[in-house]
Amino acid sequence: MTKERITREIVQTMDQKDSLSHFKSEFYTQDDHYYMDGNSLGLLSKRAEAAVLTSLQDWKEQGIDGWTEGKEPWFYMSEKIGEMTAPLIGAEPEEVINTGSITANLHQLLATFYKPEGNRTKILADSLNFPSDIYALQSQIEQKGLKHEEQLIQVESKDGYTLKEDNIIAQMDERTAVLLLPSVLYRSGQLLDMKRLTEEAHKRGIIVGFDLAHSIGAIPHQLHEWNVDFAVWCTYKYLNSGPGGVGGLFVHEKHLGQKPGLAGWFSSKKEKQFDMEHTLTHSETASAFQMGTPHILSSAPLVGSLEMFNEAGIETIRSKSLQMTRLLMNLIHQELSDFGFQIMNPLEDERRGGHVSLVHPEAASICKALKSEGVTPDYRSPNVIRLAPIALYSSFEDVYEMIGILKKLMTEEKHKQFKNERGIIA
Ligand SMILES: *Cc1c(COP(=O)(O)O)cnc(C)c1O
Repeated sequence: MTKERITREIVQTMDQKDSLSHFKSEFYTQDDHYYMDGNSLGLLSKRAEAAVLTSLQDWKEQGIDGWTEGKEPWFYMSEKIGEMTAPLIGAEPEEVINTGSITANLHQLLATFYKPEGNRTKILADSLNFPSDIYALQSQIEQKGLKHEEQLIQVESKDGYTLKEDNIIAQMDERTAVLLLPSVLYRSGQLLDMKRLTEEAHKRGIIVGFDLAHSIGAIPHQLHEWNVDFAVWCTYKYLNSGPGGVGGLFVHEKHLGQKPGLAGWFSSKKEKQFDMEHTLTHSETASAFQMGTPHILSSAPLVGSLEMFNEAGIETIRSKSLQMTRLLMNLIHQELSDFGFQIMNPLEDERRGGHVSLVHPEAASICKALKSEGVTPDYRSPNVIRLAPIALYSSFEDVYEMIGILKKLMTEEKHKQFKNERGIIA
């Protein structure tokens, strides 16, 4: 907590010193609107929009020749985006490909790396992960003719919000085939120690996968150096690829050359693909883990968006993000201490992701009231408000303004006008 009272002048000074402030004008933000939901769906940038228009123009002018002759040839776009993503996660370019969704990519990589054998049949996960990841794990276990009730071990959380690395490590043993964890927990924003967990799992012969949904684009990673076996992510959150934007996956160099568990013609070596043989010659890079034709119009935004991430640098993005979430927490202490909010994300920088999580019994109605006042928060049932100021398009003053709006509506009890229930999408 800061000793000094935080004032508008102080946050304006922070904005003046912010080396990333010029990126804000590259996004479609609205004046007097405070978008704090970039961890669920990032905003559109002008460069992402231009990149989609380029692919549309290529289609308009060239038809099928757009695959190889377009300004941004579609046949190589997934690999190009993989290369542009690599610096964000500390990977070699050939270890990364833009393809699928988190769930589809999890299926692909479990089909490739989950090989129950002898006593080593279990998958170790956690009890706080996003449901889709758990469904994928359950169905992959069933695909192997096993019972997920017996084979899927989910590490419990003592407080219901966070996990202890020690507890996860204590559950790793010679029966564990695969460990799958989120890098950042989607509710509490806890950042797990991926390096340590990978080392400990490897000591016990366990394959390690991470879901980077809530860390890619917000936090630097060193997947190659940490020796992580595989990772998956979506791109519509911090990477701003738009609704349904194509996700990505990482497979460590040491596994490249391995046959994909789920093959398709886009798994091919590029120069062999159009030989149309019935024997697959799969690529020796992460490209091998693609299946069918890439979704070009949902990948194209990344060509524009990732350019900005690489110009800004992920270390600088992380540093601003930490400063913003620190400011947000300090303002909550300073302004909102009378209103029963509880911060449940870890407070330390090295254990905190890109969002602040507030618990309040009236979270649903508070979120609705915030929306009616020009703030877009993110609600997670039953009592969590997630707030994510975004390094590339939020200012420190935005955070200050947003807390002012929240304080005013709590003081006037405006949220009481709304039902404390979630909507269909929350
Ligand atoms: C957002 C998110 C998903 C969504 O999966 P999709 O297959 O991209 O729809 C899955 N897991 C986690 C942890 C997420 O945060």
